[in-house]
Amino acid sequence: MSAMGVVICLAIAASAGLGVYLRLRQMATVEANRDRVPPDFAGEVTLDDHRRAAEYTIAKTEFSIVETIFDAAISVLWLTLGLAPLYAAVVAMVEPGLVRSVLFVLLFGVIAGLIDMPFAAARAFWLEARFGFNRLTPQKFLIDQAKTGALEIAVSAPLLFGMFWLLRAAPDTWWLLAYVAFIAIAIAMAVIYPTVIAPLFNTFTPLEEGAMKRRMEALLAKCGFESKGLYVMDASTRSTHGNAYFSGFGKAKRIVFFDTLLARHSPDEIESILAHELGHFKFGHVRQMLLQAAAIAFLGFAVLWQAFGSDVFAGWFGLPNDPGIVLVALLLAREPISHILSPLLAWRSRRAEFEADAFARDLVGKEPMISALTRLTRDNLATLTPDPLYATFYFSHPPVPVRVAQLRATA
Ligand SMILES: [Zn+2]
Repeated sequence: MSAMGVVICLAIAASAGLGVYLRLRQMATVEANRDRVPPDFAGEVTLDDHRRAAEYTIAKTEFSIVETIFDAAISVLWLTLGLAPLYAAVVAMVEPGLVRSVLFVLLFGVIAGLIDMPFAAARAFWLEARFGFNRLTPQKFLIDQAKTGALEIAVSAPLLFGMFWLLRAAPDTWWLLAYVAFIAIAIAMAVIYPTVIAPLFNTFTPLEEGAMKRRMEALLAKCGFESKGLYVMDASTRSTHGNAYFSGFGKAKRIVFFDTLLARHSPDEIESILAHELGHFKFGHVRQMLLQAAAIAFLGFAVLWQAFGSDVFAGWFGLPNDPGIVLVALLLAREPISHILSPLLAWRSRRAEFEADAFARDLVGKEPMISALTRLTRDNLATLTPDPLYATFYFSHPPVPVRVAQLRATA
């Protein structure tokens, strides 16, 4: 391995070091505040709830420290020891050509998925189960894993064939063509996700007729959102965590409520959560996220173009210069860069959440929004006292105390 290969492996280790440091900070802050409910929540969150949330947050964070270290070690092992013999095994099975490169990437993906599976199982059956959140059975867990794996292969195999074929057919311009195709596919996926992909995993039913539905329809009509886009998802088959989300765009857009959320919140709170999701719709947040992903993908394809165009990158790790290998090695090596970019992406996402909160406040008032956020936090055992630096790096939603303070601050 060359000096550059060593530098990349050290960067992966440093990135994991940063991840562990931030998680240790998070645990220390939560621990330091575990015996005092923040004054804004003193009436609604009991000390018992607050301590339990601290316990859950610390357990979750400990778990992710182990995972962070393990993932970094596995990435370095792949780059230094694992990819070469895996490629040799594929070479022994398949003639040189497109199939060889594609098979290498898919085989790597399957092995990486299997290595990751014990963590997913431990998360559900050990971590989540300890706090009473898990509803998955081992059978359902395995079915989920098999479905996800099959879906990933079904989507990535044709894309890989297409990309490696273009690489040969148009060596100079392939990356721009591939990029345009990638964007078209990403848009298509965003459109079909709510109606084709999500239903592979959950059942979506229209909201039950009744007073609640009439109330929601009135709110939807006020915002110009078609009421047939409102669904309830059977999230309770996997976990008792409650949530709601907005997905898709154009005719395929949907607002989805977890059944667990509908079961626990008051009609006023549910209305405010709907108003928040409508905020995401009004501000075009799904479109913005797609544009952002498109900008990042452009850089990604430019890097691929450079890496595929010479044997330098594979050479850094002493690997054969097959596009399949280069792609996998790049995916492994990009982690430190994604990690450094995560505060920027998280910040953009939090800004969108503030916008949606403000929209909901104007539509239904701040009180139901505050009480919905408080209940969500309490029921999901989310911490009210995260470490600020940790939150800056990783929180896609602003910490609930900050959201509540923001809502309170406005008239
Ligand atoms: Zn939101």
